[in-house]
Amino acid sequence: MEIVVPPDYRHLWVTDSRHPVLKVPDPALREVAKTVRKVTPRHRVLVENMVKVMRQADGIGLAATQLGIMERIIVVCPDTKPLALINPVITSQEGEEDGEEGCLSLPALYGTVTRAQKITVNGLDRKGAAVCIEAEGTAARVLQHEIDHLDGILFIDKADPATLYWSEPSGKDSG
Ligand SMILES: [Zn+2]
Repeated sequence: MEIVVPPDYRHLWVTDSRHPVLKVPDPALREVAKTVRKVTPRHRVLVENMVKVMRQADGIGLAATQLGIMERIIVVCPDTKPLALINPVITSQEGEEDGEEGCLSLPALYGTVTRAQKITVNGLDRKGAAVCIEAEGTAARVLQHEIDHLDGILFIDKADPATLYWSEPSGKDSG
């Protein structure tokens, strides 16, 4: 799908030192990220930086690939406490739910995506310890959206094209 950004929103599609999240059509957003072989202090710093960028951009999730870093790392913050996952893998999923999504790499564009309602994700935390996360609803949606980023998949690939629309971002609504 080719995205033509309306003039009103072009100012949001800038990537620079103050707005480091890559925007479509940056090719890095279509690459498959590599598995992290060993979690090192560098990853801890990277995770902290990702949380900072996510907050600055008013996002509820961010994948390393959105910063041009081709490693399987995501941060999500569907409520208050940010969660970092390294090498996240969805190990089970249940149900189906339609919900609206936006993306920091596609600012001001929204659409409805069908996702699993409840998922289990296995991965490593920022210190390299194995974790298993169960999530449902919005938290499950954000996790699925961010894990898709690690495989070069964007929400516009899965959204019903008829539901796509442009709107000024308002608060925490994108990943
Ligand atoms: Zn996104």
